[in-house]
Amino acid sequence: MSLPRPHHRLLPATLAVLLLLPLGVRAQGADTPPGVFAFVNVSVLPMEGATEVLENQTVLVRDDRIVAVGSVASVAVPEGATVIDGEGRYLMPGLAEMHAHVPPVAQGRPQEGVLEDIMFLYVANGITTIRGMLGSPYQIDLRDELLAHEMLGPAFYAAAPSINGNSAPSPEAAEAMMRAAAEVGYDLMKIHPGVSRETWDRMVVVAGEVGLTFAGHVPADVGLVHALETGISTVDHMDGYLEAAAGGTPASVDELVAGLNERRMRRLARLTRERGAYVVPTQYLWANLYGARDADTALRLPEMNYVSPQQRQGWRNQAAGTPRLEPATREAFLQARDRMLRILAEEDVLLLMGTDSPQLFNVPGFALHRELDAMSAAGLDNRTILVSGTRNVGRYVGEVLGQDGSFGTVAAGQRADLVLLEANPLEDLGHLTERAGVMVRGRWLDREFLEAGLRAIAAKYPSVS
Ligand SMILES: [Zn+2]
Repeated sequence: MSLPRPHHRLLPATLAVLLLLPLGVRAQGADTPPGVFAFVNVSVLPMEGATEVLENQTVLVRDDRIVAVGSVASVAVPEGATVIDGEGRYLMPGLAEMHAHVPPVAQGRPQEGVLEDIMFLYVANGITTIRGMLGSPYQIDLRDELLAHEMLGPAFYAAAPSINGNSAPSPEAAEAMMRAAAEVGYDLMKIHPGVSRETWDRMVVVAGEVGLTFAGHVPADVGLVHALETGISTVDHMDGYLEAAAGGTPASVDELVAGLNERRMRRLARLTRERGAYVVPTQYLWANLYGARDADTALRLPEMNYVSPQQRQGWRNQAAGTPRLEPATREAFLQARDRMLRILAEEDVLLLMGTDSPQLFNVPGFALHRELDAMSAAGLDNRTILVSGTRNVGRYVGEVLGQDGSFGTVAAGQRADLVLLEANPLEDLGHLTERAGVMVRGRWLDREFLEAGLRAIAAKYPSVS
């Protein structure tokens, strides 16, 4: 069955806002289409160069691009520009969710409203770029609709339905999938476990021929070192690192942790850097998967107000069905993951921010801020963490996906994906949630608009507290 296309896609943005809200709630705040904007007297976090914060700046935006960044005295505000007061505020690049699962469906699209809400949750959390890692045919159209502002949401880079042990039981099957993915126009190929080494090697050759990169899990038969040496572009969940660093195939989590060795961990990190692969850690998800937070506590977190009771119940069931480790074993394992992440950062491996939402207890958008806390708790400094969600993302899209990667920093010529904050996030990552507004490819969404949209989503579901 193929679902009809939503009819409101071409309506003006303000009308679309009214449709988002339940009856009786008046539209609030502003959703201003791309045009000319001036952020005046703002502190800028360029996320590149030696200076962390540029004070008293004016940032000019025209359509979807930043056109000027300079001191208030040096940059004139054009007549007719929408002026946004930047005094006491901080302007930084929008963040990225580099491991999103946008709901896959075999044919057609998810039920109307589902995608709109998910995309809104990303934007309302300051996320202006996502990489979809669970491919589905409708996502090709979705990507274009998002770029054209027909649906409000982040820029979307779409992985193809994954090559894994079931979908690609032979080299021929993997070859066919890789060729089809390039033909259809996906941005990359997702890898899941179960792929044999022979199948992998064929996939690598064909990927080179069709010009498509591959990323995701490291199949056990392939192993991390071979995956890196053959050009995997992102290793998600730090998949394969601890196994490789423990040497051989440990029989238990305890054995895995006991077998870790600093020299091997550093060697793997250096190999990753040399090969130019990126790592998407997903520490928060792993803590959840290993039962670091019980379901009752997790399901009372404030972000649970933005997901359906079915989703909450699904997570409760998943948590109940997950085998539990001894608390001491779990702690040692999660600490080993943190240690590996620190070593990757120390060896200058390129990190990318990502959560795997909506996997266990990961509410789209909100989960990213949980992940930032987890990266911080692992010992990463705030700048490294912010770079993983901004500058590194533009670099990945430019250098690895071979597309326009001019975003992720605040500079003339960059895509106008911006977050305006009330306080400096380099001092405290918690300031990332004190948003005065978000700009998505030149479209300005102020705080009232974002908060009204969040209230409208929460109003659909029973409150958790
Ligand atoms: Zn995934």
